[in-house]
Amino acid sequence: MADHGTNIALPETLRGLDDLALDMRLMASHRADRVWHRVNPQLWAASTNPWAVLKSIGQPELEKLGSDPRFCSEVQALVEDRRSRNSHPFWFPRSPAAKTLSLTAYFSMEFGLSEALPIYAGGLGVLAGDYLKSSTDLGVPVVGVGLLYQQGYFRQALDSQGNQRELYPFSDPSEIPVQRLRGPDDAWIRIPLEFPGRTVYLRAWAVNVGRLWLYLLDSDDPANDPSDRGITAQLYDADPEVRWQQELALGFGGWRLLRELGMDPHVCHLNEGHAALAILERARWIALDHAVPFDVALTVARTGTVFTTHTPVAAAFDRFDPSYVVAYLSPLAAEMQVSVDEILALGRTRSHDKAEPFNMAFLAIRGAAHVNGVSELHGEVSRELFADLFPRCPIEEVPVGYVTNGIHVPSWDSPAADELWTDAELREQWRGVPTPIVERLQKRPAAELWAMRNHNRERFVSWARQRLARQYTIAGAGADRIDEAQRIFDPNILTLGFARRFTEYKRTGLLLHDPDRFARILTNPDFPVQIAVAGKAHPADTSGKAMIQRWYAFSQREDVRSHVAFLADYDLLLAEQLVNGVDVWINTPRRPWEASGTSGMKVLVNGGLNLSELDGWWAEAYTPGVGWAIGDRREHHGDPGWDAEEADRIYALLESEIVPMFYTRDHNDVPQDWIARVRASMATLTPRFSAERMVRDYVERFYTPAATAYRTRILENCRVGRDVQRWRQLIADHWSEVSFGALHVEPTTTGHHFRVLVSLGAIGTDAVRVQLYADASDGAAAERIAMSRGEEVIRGTFSYHAHVDSSRSSDDYTPRVVPYHPDASVPLEAEQICWHS
Ligand SMILES: *Cc1c(COP(=O)(O)O)cnc(C)c1O
Repeated sequence: MADHGTNIALPETLRGLDDLALDMRLMASHRADRVWHRVNPQLWAASTNPWAVLKSIGQPELEKLGSDPRFCSEVQALVEDRRSRNSHPFWFPRSPAAKTLSLTAYFSMEFGLSEALPIYAGGLGVLAGDYLKSSTDLGVPVVGVGLLYQQGYFRQALDSQGNQRELYPFSDPSEIPVQRLRGPDDAWIRIPLEFPGRTVYLRAWAVNVGRLWLYLLDSDDPANDPSDRGITAQLYDADPEVRWQQELALGFGGWRLLRELGMDPHVCHLNEGHAALAILERARWIALDHAVPFDVALTVARTGTVFTTHTPVAAAFDRFDPSYVVAYLSPLAAEMQVSVDEILALGRTRSHDKAEPFNMAFLAIRGAAHVNGVSELHGEVSRELFADLFPRCPIEEVPVGYVTNGIHVPSWDSPAADELWTDAELREQWRGVPTPIVERLQKRPAAELWAMRNHNRERFVSWARQRLARQYTIAGAGADRIDEAQRIFDPNILTLGFARRFTEYKRTGLLLHDPDRFARILTNPDFPVQIAVAGKAHPADTSGKAMIQRWYAFSQREDVRSHVAFLADYDLLLAEQLVNGVDVWINTPRRPWEASGTSGMKVLVNGGLNLSELDGWWAEAYTPGVGWAIGDRREHHGDPGWDAEEADRIYALLESEIVPMFYTRDHNDVPQDWIARVRASMATLTPRFSAERMVRDYVERFYTPAATAYRTRILENCRVGRDVQRWRQLIADHWSEVSFGALHVEPTTTGHHFRVLVSLGAIGTDAVRVQLYADASDGAAAERIAMSRGEEVIRGTFSYHAHVDSSRSSDDYTPRVVPYHPDASVPLEAEQICWHS
């Protein structure tokens, strides 16, 4: 039971207003903004936090609002609308998945749902927030699990020299839209975690997202030692042990909380490796509930686990000192009657290397049955990163697929775009009802699309002026400077946006490679251009901070200062304004470091166009008709010469194509070529890069098979789970007995005939398959051809044979033995392969 912890006594006429204030999906849609403005305009403007706004007024004022018929009917309309959104038929209940899927737990270290709930740092959190919002739209049964940070991630301020200052404002849980959770006995829920020599208690909170709930844990409980109360103070604490404790809180605490709430999710989705410890806690419960050994329980837990990796470089995996595992997980190991070394081995490539750190991504992949990267290219990159765990696998068989990220379209569209999509009867798409987007957008006149673009740009310019003026005021700038900020930009000129984390791989300085040339592009008197820039640098990243300063200094140059603004404190609110308003969104990551990137997807629905490196999502989205690209689809490993070339390419594209196209108008002042691109980009890319598509992919491709397999394994006290584990043990213990004998190849009229002897030792014929394998070549996919078993030549040695109809040389085909079990996932659960050499 969720508890507001306050005694707001709402008048009958305002019933449901508190629920509106606590619903993150409603917040993101802005449908209730007018109501909050009416309740407390100053606090609403300053905080955009409906819950704080509602709590800020006294009872007399509440009564007064409750007797204002217009206000009350607006509130009741919203309450009704919310009710109908939460119960209106959506995609999931009518999809085949509804028959198999009961509940999925989605674990993430951060969630970016709203500015009012600052528990995210960047892209990973925004993705998790968009995932929850789309899941609620589609009616997918999901429960989110995360941590509640007292200070979240830092807020950025810039001083008058452009130096970044980091601020850590405290979020009072009573002022943010979270509710304390009570258990069945009406007492506040406290989740105990055993830490060395003490028990740490976690408080439990609930956040409403439409029909769904996100549960959060924090350690700021008075029962804890002061040093433990701060464990959940800051997102991504710099102290590795605190970080480890946070991940224990998320993984162990999170799963324990779900149990406490009586939930039994059949699928557990790990959004990045931070939450991988949930696998161990889940296995512990399975072991206890079904009285099976820990390895069997792990085998059951694994089959219901989905792991999404977001990292394009091995150095970015979360790794911990093995001594933490020993110190914190020995009690678990003892309870489960396994050695702590066995637990350590799950997070290592070489299980007995005492120095190798404990890698959370390795634990996650060893505890999951479905593993994916977040774009097609990132899937490829991830197969390389995890190749060491599957040393005998050809690279394309490393079991990592991909689901390209997407964004929650209704959260990122501007009011004008929303109107256009509504008029075109396309909004149902985001609730899983397929709509003919291309056809319907084709019918909208170019002038209408152009009017929407102009409207969006004007709105952004006026918002940016206010924001910049406030930023200068806080930095202590003089009156002229503030006045100038209020007149910066022009609502009618080509507007570029560039916002992201200021970190090396994003190449945030690329546009400033030749500042004078860029200034000439901006200030071309006939075809002027303006750019809004934003982004935070990690507090310890001095070169990132220096780059912010460089941009700031550039924005102060006399010749460009009305064309350039560095807007401080990149957050959801600023991101929303930017992606609503800009004509062209620029992204310059160093390939292949942008696992997916989502910010460029947010401009699509608003008719913004992308100019981006062919990396992450853009590598699969780009075609010449929908935007612009730099890069040659290859990696250049930080070569400065290549960076210079790419900078040159951006300038050239702007000068010769983008700027002229924007300013080439017909007799109605509509840039027809530009709008043709806008239309193509909106129509073809928006649905592909939406979170609605992403969530459906996860449900159909991963959750549904995972739920089915999980139930199969756990039935009858894990009968199949035990069988799979026995098979894994057999393979592990006796694989060395597998060997090949002589191979005979004979040409046939249509190809080749292969015959080979295979000794299987104790493993036997049922536990393996013998195949011919040929690498992918000349664009043809890799081939795997089953070989049939013939007679047992001598005890334990069998003859296998296969016909291959192929023009490829027989040398292309290599016989191999691979582990096989009808209920197991290979190579995830048995990476052994015996190749004929
Ligand atoms: C969308 C978003 C991101 C992700 O941006 P990428 O540069 O595409 O990784 C980060 N921060 C905020 C505030 C966002 O809204």
